[in-house]
Amino acid sequence: MKSEHTSVVIGIDIGGTEIKGGVVSSEGLLLIERRVRTPIEEGEIGMIQALHRLISELSVQTNCPILGIGIGSAGRIDSKLGKVINATNLPLTGTMLADEVTELLSLPVYVDNDVNVAALGEAWVGAAQNNDSFAFVALGTGVGGALFSDGHILQGVSGGAGEFGHLILKPGGLACNCGQHGCLEQYVSGSALQRMARKIDPNYDGHMLLKLAGQGDLQANKAVDHFVIDLAYGIVTIHNVFDPGMIVVGGGVITSSEVWWSKLLETLNDISPKSITLKPALLGNRAGILGAAKLVYDRINI
Ligand SMILES: [Zn+2]
Repeated sequence: MKSEHTSVVIGIDIGGTEIKGGVVSSEGLLLIERRVRTPIEEGEIGMIQALHRLISELSVQTNCPILGIGIGSAGRIDSKLGKVINATNLPLTGTMLADEVTELLSLPVYVDNDVNVAALGEAWVGAAQNNDSFAFVALGTGVGGALFSDGHILQGVSGGAGEFGHLILKPGGLACNCGQHGCLEQYVSGSALQRMARKIDPNYDGHMLLKLAGQGDLQANKAVDHFVIDLAYGIVTIHNVFDPGMIVVGGGVITSSEVWWSKLLETLNDISPKSITLKPALLGNRAGILGAAKLVYDRINI
């Protein structure tokens, strides 16, 4: 625990299954951490109440003065207004999240998209530490992305910059819920691995597929090879568009990277003569809490 005189920030990461919260020091240390189930079925009011409870508990547990609250949320976010523009998996579409939370403790509240915030965490104390320019690709249920340039997350005109999951990889390919066909997300996400697993055996899931591939199963390895090739093409495209100092790959699928990481590096080497620096994310599912806290530290300039 840090000194009682050190000011701290509360970081919150709102996901589809859990809301994670933490008290974070100015050096990026996670001093206290709490998690609660995301009460999706209770609608917007239940979500705000759960957030208020979590923040209240964290504020009671720390003895240090709290400078502000940072929130990363799934969905498209207007970070200037602190508003959720659209969240397909959460009952928060249209919610003025910053205003709802500011009411609680009368502290400054900053909100951004969960993947942007995870990238900020990796930039602060993770894989991209001391890198002013990098791209972050999050392989979760879907595929998210963020662009970090000159020390800042690029937002784009409507908060949609870095949506790498919807790069079209295979024209006319699988339908995507964004309305396009053949998006990268349909081939390299956790859901894509799940689909490939069920083709082998209806009882398999993505974890099983990767486990079998790690054990040398031929069919599973063939599926993982497809995943790796498609991911490599996506990474080369991201590199060509943005020319980042490095590309960090995170999200839940990275936890199985020992099965496919070296194949990915080999494939990149085969398909592009460019030198692409690729790193796995380091902060796991704490990247969101840490990055959300960094949103506050970046704005208050202590
Ligand atoms: Zn799409």
